[in-house]
Amino acid sequence: MENTESYLSDRDIMAILRAADEIIARGGRSLLAKILKGSKDKKVLELGLDQCPVYGYFRHETLKNILKKVDWMIDYDFLDIEYVGKLPMIVFTERGWEIHKDQYTDELLQEWEEWLEKGIQNPDMTYLKERDRGMIVLLLEKIGETRDKRFIPYLKEWEKVDYKKVKAKIRQVIQMIESDEPLDHEAIHVRQMAIKEALQGEEPGDLRLKCWDCGKRFTFSIDEQRFFKQKGYSYPKRCKSCRGRRKNWV
Ligand SMILES: [Zn+2]
Repeated sequence: MENTESYLSDRDIMAILRAADEIIARGGRSLLAKILKGSKDKKVLELGLDQCPVYGYFRHETLKNILKKVDWMIDYDFLDIEYVGKLPMIVFTERGWEIHKDQYTDELLQEWEEWLEKGIQNPDMTYLKERDRGMIVLLLEKIGETRDKRFIPYLKEWEKVDYKKVKAKIRQVIQMIESDEPLDHEAIHVRQMAIKEALQGEEPGDLRLKCWDCGKRFTFSIDEQRFFKQKGYSYPKRCKSCRGRRKNWV
């Protein structure tokens, strides 16, 4: 599938996901748009969101336009809205996380490279504890793929502070680097293709749902889907006329 119909480029999608990472389950659409705008809004500054690498990514655009992009991300299933109490908060969809996990682990690996350049010897590795397991595994894979022996001391520091399962994985990676095992190019390729595929989102369309009462199919349009998502409602179980009839009973 081609991405030519899309309104946002891969780079834009990744930037919005990067900004979203700062506020997952604690901020909504407008806060996300403000980060991307580079807003000096009080809340943005209080939360230190001006430190985010994509702060001001869309600085030349209006907030309204940026919000449209955020909503596109929700329509195309890169982001979702989840209610925390009464507040609609931004969360990753599985697909959005798949893409973001890849760029985020690159960012972490880059940080390790900067430590090497600066000659940092004993970095505090506790920041990697209790993180998403899939992300940690991917990070370790990428560290292993560098086959860079200078990372071994960092890996050993990390091994000291993390849990059993992660320790085992870290030791595997150390061994892989020490023995200079040949790279598994096939696995790397498969992983990269999966990210590409995730970026080429499927265009959202109307859904045909089956009514629980009359059993007929009814259309649940894109606009209705968007409205339901923003309100935090689950998808309707009944067609409009059955819904109307139920209301009249009460
Ligand atoms: Zn019905």
